[in-house]
Amino acid sequence: MEMGSETKHVMLVCYAAQGHINPVLQFAGRLASRGISITVATAAIGRQRILKDGDKATAFEADGNIKFEFFSDGSDPLMPIKDLDDCLGRLEREGPESLAGLVEDLRVQGRKVTYMVTTPFTPWVIDLAKGLGVPCSLLWIQCCAVYGYYYRVLHRNRAEMEVPLTFPGLPHLKPEDFPTLASPSSTYNRFPLLLTQLYEKLGDVKMVLGNSFNELEPEEIWFAEGLHLMKLVGPLIPQALLGCPTAPRLRKDMWVAPSNCLSWLDSKPEGSVVYVSLGSVSVLPPKQTEEMAWGLKISRRAFIWVVKPPENSSETGLPEGFLEGVEGQGIVVPWCPQVEVLSHPSLACFLTHCGWNSTLETVAAGVPVIAFPQWTDQPTNAMFLVDVLRVGVRLKVDLVTRDEVERCIAEVTDGEKATEMKKAAARCKEMARASVAKCGSSERNMQAFVDDIMDNGP
Ligand code: UDP
Repeated sequence: MEMGSETKHVMLVCYAAQGHINPVLQFAGRLASRGISITVATAAIGRQRILKDGDKATAFEADGNIKFEFFSDGSDPLMPIKDLDDCLGRLEREGPESLAGLVEDLRVQGRKVTYMVTTPFTPWVIDLAKGLGVPCSLLWIQCCAVYGYYYRVLHRNRAEMEVPLTFPGLPHLKPEDFPTLASPSSTYNRFPLLLTQLYEKLGDVKMVLGNSFNELEPEEIWFAEGLHLMKLVGPLIPQALLGCPTAPRLRKDMWVAPSNCLSWLDSKPEGSVVYVSLGSVSVLPPKQTEEMAWGLKISRRAFIWVVKPPENSSETGLPEGFLEGVEGQGIVVPWCPQVEVLSHPSLACFLTHCGWNSTLETVAAGVPVIAFPQWTDQPTNAMFLVDVLRVGVRLKVDLVTRDEVERCIAEVTDGEKATEMKKAAARCKEMARASVAKCGSSERNMQAFVDDIMDNGP
């Protein structure tokens, strides 16, 4: 789209992980529908997966008002990224100059950036925006309780981190509920440093926006003295899950789902299928994959299981003979259209790693859960689903046995407790829809942000 001098052009910056791209794209959609032009700038490491094979474009349009662009994150196909610290380090070294170059290129093309929004992996965007004289806001893409938790522990002596923290409105947080990346035993050092930087820069951001909603996470849960008041604009999930089936379907999946997922679900009775997925990053160790596999089989429930082979491998680690043994009972796929799966009438429950996007999606779909958190914010999200919202049970022990998998599936799908969870999940669904309805809390906050964009910048 050709931009006139009056057009507001917001650049949303995020890391190229599926769990970052999804909420940012939904946020982009909400802004674009109000006539704002959007560039989603993401790290080059995702270029190939986002553009898919053979597509040589350097940018693409997600829809008329939303364009994707890539900036360098120091990724090198010959030297694959080793881990989170490595990835954050490269991003911090290479990102600022490359992103500044992109902003300048866009200006030359007549697409001057008038407002910037950063997500947590790129706190340096706040300095860049300041240098350019462009207003900048932060979009926090995890749950607000985690935002409050990190703020408190990172502003304390790290040795105190194991002390259980009390958040008004939440049950007593036990160490197994804490986000793993700020724990003293975490081997990832860069993430706490990056968050500390982020909190220090908050004085330079216009607004802190959160991918949550007031009815789900009221202020008392996450707010701490000295912390920026957050405006919650979520859930930033596809509108189809929020009662708007005709809204444009924005998606940019980094993996391809086989075409049979939904037709297979169509063939199953209502409320009968267990959906199992650990998101886009987590991979179970072989022994756990084996126990999960046999647990699903002995549950005798229909299931759809997303098993994403680790990067640079095609090995799923499924036990020998498993696939043949479950023919007719379940299917295993490398990726699926999760939103459509969660809203399918055949679904009974979701065995989830509790990534924040999956958490919001299951809350909005009204689907009960078996929480199986792996790392980062997932334990806190699991606590939230199970102990606060009461929409499921949690797999807790280190190695979850096949019997435990079977027991939890039975607990969430059959009997009085299952009925209560289903009712609680249905209430959550209504709450999510109300937040984004006209005059709903998130809708009002989104409008306040749009007003800020309109009032600021050239
Ligand atoms: N997702 C999907 N298909 C899959 C697995 C995941 O579409 O087979 C989507 C899911 O709907 C969610 C995102 O990928 O929006 C994963 O984000 P989340 O925060 O749940 O977990 P992460 O991948 O960041 O660990």
